[in-house]
Amino acid sequence: MITLMAESGFFILWILCGVGVAYIAKKRGKVWGVWLMYGLILGPIALLLTAFSYGGKMCPYCKSNIQKEAEICPKCNRQLA
Ligand SMILES: [Zn+2]
Repeated sequence: MITLMAESGFFILWILCGVGVAYIAKKRGKVWGVWLMYGLILGPIALLLTAFSYGGKMCPYCKSNIQKEAEICPKCNRQLA
């Protein structure tokens, strides 16, 4: 019973990793469906790779990659939410 719970928990975690990867990919303007497959195949590894491959965020106005701590975009000088 405990083993079954642990396995289903692991399975849910794996699915969440796939969804997380797809979500990050979508936010970066990539084809999220491809990344969802990638995330579901590699699980947490894909999530880690995705997270570490991109340390910042995208400016919603000029679409440039900026530091995730930034409050004002250095490219277009707009206030970020
Ligand atoms: Zn900007």
